[in-house]
Amino acid sequence: MTGDLGGAWQALRERRFEASVRLADYTTIRTGGPARWFLDARGEDEATAALLAAKGRGVPVLLVGNGSNLLVSDGGFDGLVVHFGEGFARMSLDGLRLRAQAGAMLKALAFFAAEHNLAGLAFAAGIPGSLGGALVMNAGAFNGEMSQVVESVDCLTRDGLRVTLSNREADFAYRHSRMMEEGLVVLGATLLLTPGSREALHATMAGFQEMRREKQPLAWPSAGSFFKRPPGYFAGALIEQAGLKGLTVGGAQVSEKHAGFLINLGGATTRDFIALKDQVQERVLERFGVRLEPEVRLVGETGA
Ligand SMILES: Cc1cc2nc3c(=O)[nH]c(=O)nc-3n(C[C@H](O)[C@H](O)[C@H](O)COP(=O)(O)OP(=O)(O)OC[C@H]3O[C@@H](n4cnc5c(N)ncnc54)[C@H](O)[C@@H]3O)c2cc1C
Repeated sequence: MTGDLGGAWQALRERRFEASVRLADYTTIRTGGPARWFLDARGEDEATAALLAAKGRGVPVLLVGNGSNLLVSDGGFDGLVVHFGEGFARMSLDGLRLRAQAGAMLKALAFFAAEHNLAGLAFAAGIPGSLGGALVMNAGAFNGEMSQVVESVDCLTRDGLRVTLSNREADFAYRHSRMMEEGLVVLGATLLLTPGSREALHATMAGFQEMRREKQPLAWPSAGSFFKRPPGYFAGALIEQAGLKGLTVGGAQVSEKHAGFLINLGGATTRDFIALKDQVQERVLERFGVRLEPEVRLVGETGA
């Protein structure tokens, strides 16, 4: 890969790029080595220019929102990480339409909507993701999912072309979207909500959060449910029935509280998580003939 980023990057306010940023600080599971270059995106023009410059130089790009569904290799990412966070999180209302940038957090969006008596996002309040990551993943919970509230998604192709996809064009399916399939960069979206009552929405969100606290190991770093729900089964139930609760590799463990969660007991490496994932997959396959597929996105899969 190109070692010298030179000219074009300087024109992109090079001083805003950081080198060797620890990705463990940007993932909720708290593992992952350094990013060779890191840009905390502050605006569309800057993000676009950075992506195009990387493409022009053959530099691989990794997009990161809140890092709550990411497992990054201990060796890090030898390319450019573009982070969509607080600097890319504007939101505004126009009647029933909530427009937001990719870095806006789902919780903030759900509370903002509730404050304005708008329903549709209560399901998302406890999902610790950004809007961009949630749209790519078609995140969902409590019978809701992003596809139910999306009117359109503003994207950038890896060639730097701005496209707006309708809900249908975004091709949402279970934990899947066209943005994921085609590696589109999500810049923002328009969500179409329905009239609701502030008090009722806050009560619903509090109820959902209580259920999470009861069932999920929220005190430990994790990436949420590690595996997708296999058709006809629940991943957590299969793992539990295979007797794998508490199975530990290094600092990574199958949660005792919810077997679908792999948690970081402290000091875990991505290599630990990959070894644990492999063991869980093997043993569930042996026992039930079901192949569990990770929901978590693996970057540099070996963890080496
Ligand atoms: C405690 C806990 C509970 C969870 N509960 C749920 C749940 O109930 N339901 C659920 O669906 N998920 C759940 N998750 C998983 C996770 O929160 C969701 O998948 C979330 O939507 C990911 O958003 P993110 O911003 O963290 O994405 P990231 O982890 O940063 O990224 C996820 C994927 O999206 C890509 N991406 C990120 N931003 C962009 C962008 N702007 N443009 C293009 N691609 C981008 C990344 O490259 C990666 O492939 C949970 C996670 C945790 C830790």
